[in-house]
Amino acid sequence: MRSSLNAARRARELDEARTSVVDVLVVGLGVTGAGAALDAASRGLSVAAVDAHDLAFGTSRWSSKLVHGGLRYLASGQVGVAWESAVERGALLRHTAPHLVAAHPYLLPLTSDVGPGEAATVMAGYRLGDALRAAAGTPRSLLPGPSRLTAARALALAPSLRPHGLRGALLSWDGRVVDDARLVVAIARTAAAHGARVLTRCRVLALAGDGARVRDELTGAEFDIRARAVVNATGVWAGGLVPSVTLRPSRGTHLVLRPGALGALRAGLHVPIPGERARFALVLPQADGRVYVGLTDEPLDGPVPDVPEAPESDVAFLLEVLGGVLDRPLGRDQVAGAFAGLRPLVDGPGGAGGATADLSRRHAVLRSPDGVVTVVGGKLTTYRRMAEDAVGAACPHAPASRTARLPLAGAGPVRPGLPRRLVLRYGAEAGAVLDLTRRDPALAEPVAAGITLADLVWAARHEGALDAGDLLDRRTRIGLVPEDRAAALPAAEAALRCA
Ligand SMILES: Cc1cc2nc3c(=O)[nH]c(=O)nc-3n(C[C@H](O)[C@H](O)[C@H](O)COP(=O)(O)OP(=O)(O)OC[C@H]3O[C@@H](n4cnc5c(N)ncnc54)[C@H](O)[C@@H]3O)c2cc1C
Repeated sequence: MRSSLNAARRARELDEARTSVVDVLVVGLGVTGAGAALDAASRGLSVAAVDAHDLAFGTSRWSSKLVHGGLRYLASGQVGVAWESAVERGALLRHTAPHLVAAHPYLLPLTSDVGPGEAATVMAGYRLGDALRAAAGTPRSLLPGPSRLTAARALALAPSLRPHGLRGALLSWDGRVVDDARLVVAIARTAAAHGARVLTRCRVLALAGDGARVRDELTGAEFDIRARAVVNATGVWAGGLVPSVTLRPSRGTHLVLRPGALGALRAGLHVPIPGERARFALVLPQADGRVYVGLTDEPLDGPVPDVPEAPESDVAFLLEVLGGVLDRPLGRDQVAGAFAGLRPLVDGPGGAGGATADLSRRHAVLRSPDGVVTVVGGKLTTYRRMAEDAVGAACPHAPASRTARLPLAGAGPVRPGLPRRLVLRYGAEAGAVLDLTRRDPALAEPVAAGITLADLVWAARHEGALDAGDLLDRRTRIGLVPEDRAAALPAAEAALRCA
C-alpha cells in the first residue's frame, strides 16, 4: 500500500531526504506536524517530515480524545475558536475520518451541586452549541441535539451514579476520536500516500529557514535536510528550536479505570467540580472498555519532560471530584493507570501569571526572522486548519489546501460482516487485518485490552511501528496500564520479529 510505513521504507526515504532539497521540511509528527505534512504533500509539494521519537509521541496521545464542537470556547467569549472547532469537527465526522470520529453522549448529573439556575444556563449553552453544529453544516443524524433525562433514564445509562438526590441529567453529544494516536497515524499514512517522507527517530538538533541539522536516533548519524520552507510543529518543545517562541505549558492528567469499574457505563459524564461554576471533570468510556477520568489544568514550571508524570495529587483530586457523584466512591486501588499531557498554550499579552485554564486555545502561526514557520497552540480538533494555515504561511505560492475533504487512510466503504472491534480501529482496512489471521490463525491470539497479535503485526508492517514501545504505547494503548504492558511485551517483540 502506498500509505504503508515501516522500517524498510524509513531506511530508503531517509537516504533520499539527506541527498535532495525538499519543498517543505516539517518538524514534529504529532497531529499538527502530521497534518502539515499531509497538507503540503496533497498540494503537490515535496515533503520530509521528521520526529525525534515516534508518530504521536508528544501531547497528541495524551488528549481527552474529544472532537470538540466549541461550546466551551463560546462560554469564554472565544467565538472564532468555537466556530473553527465546529467546522473542523464537521469535516472529521463527515469527510475525513468518519471511521475514527463519531458522536458520543455525555450526561451532566443534576445533583445538589448543580442548582436549577445553573442547569438552565448549561442547557442554554448546549442549545447554542447545537445551533453552531447546524450552522457548520453537521447534520443531526451525525450529532444529535441535547435533551433532559429523568433520574431513572440517567441511572440506566450510568448505573454507578448516586441515586439519592439525583433530579435527572442533561444529555449532550460531542465528537470523539476512537484513539488520538490512531488519528495521527492515519494522517501520517495519508501524507505518505501523497508522497511525503515520514521519518521517525530523526531528531532536529538545529533549525533554520533553509533546513535542519538532524540526528538519526537509531544510528547516531548526523546529517542535513535542506528545504525551501520549514514548519516547526514541535508542540510544547517548539521554543527549544525557535527561542523566540514562548509557551506556558499546562499539565492535564487523566486516570485510567479498568473495564467495569463504573458498571455498565453507556455515556460519558460531566462531573461538576465543587466550588467552581461551569467547570467539570470528565468521565470518558473508551472503545476498549477502559474508562478515563480527567482532567486537571496545572501550569508546568521548569523544563519540559519527554513524557510528563501524573502526580499523586492530581490522582487524588480526580478521585475526590468523581466521588461526589458516585453511589460508591472509588479507592486508589481501582485506578489501573494514569497519564498526563502538556498543553502547548501560547503565552499571550496578559497571560503571564494568570490561570492556564483561562489562556486562549487559539493556535498561532509565527515566523522567525530566518523564515522558520512555527505552528503551535490550538487543539487536536483543529489540527487540519492549523496545518493549512502553517503551510499557507510557509509556502504562500503553493496551490490551495485540499485537506478539508480528503479522506484519511482507512476512510471508505467497509466490507460487511467484519468484527466491530476491527471496524472501529481500522475502518475500510479492517478486512485486511482480519485476513492476516485467516492466513495465520496464531495471529488471532489475544495480547491485552482487546488487542491481538495481528494488530501488532499490522502496526509494524503498515503503521510505522519500529519497536515495542511504538506498538504498546502508541499504535495500541496497552501501555496505559503498566501491568498489561509488562504482560504484552513478549508478544510485541514476537510481532516485530514476524513483521
Ligand atoms: C491533557 C490534554 C487533553 C487534551 N484534550 C483534548 C481534546 O480532548 N480535544 C482536543 O481537540 N484537544 C485536546 N488537547 C489538545 C491537543 O492534544 C494538543 O493541542 C495537540 O495534541 C498538540 O499537538 P502537536 O502536534 O502540536 O504537538 P505534539 O503532539 O506534542 O507533537 C510534537 C512532536 O514534536 C516532536 N519533537 C519535539 N522536539 C523535536 C525535535 N527537536 N526534533 C524532532 N521532533 C521533535 C515530539 O516528539 C512530538 O511528537 C488536549 C491537551 C492535553 C494536554
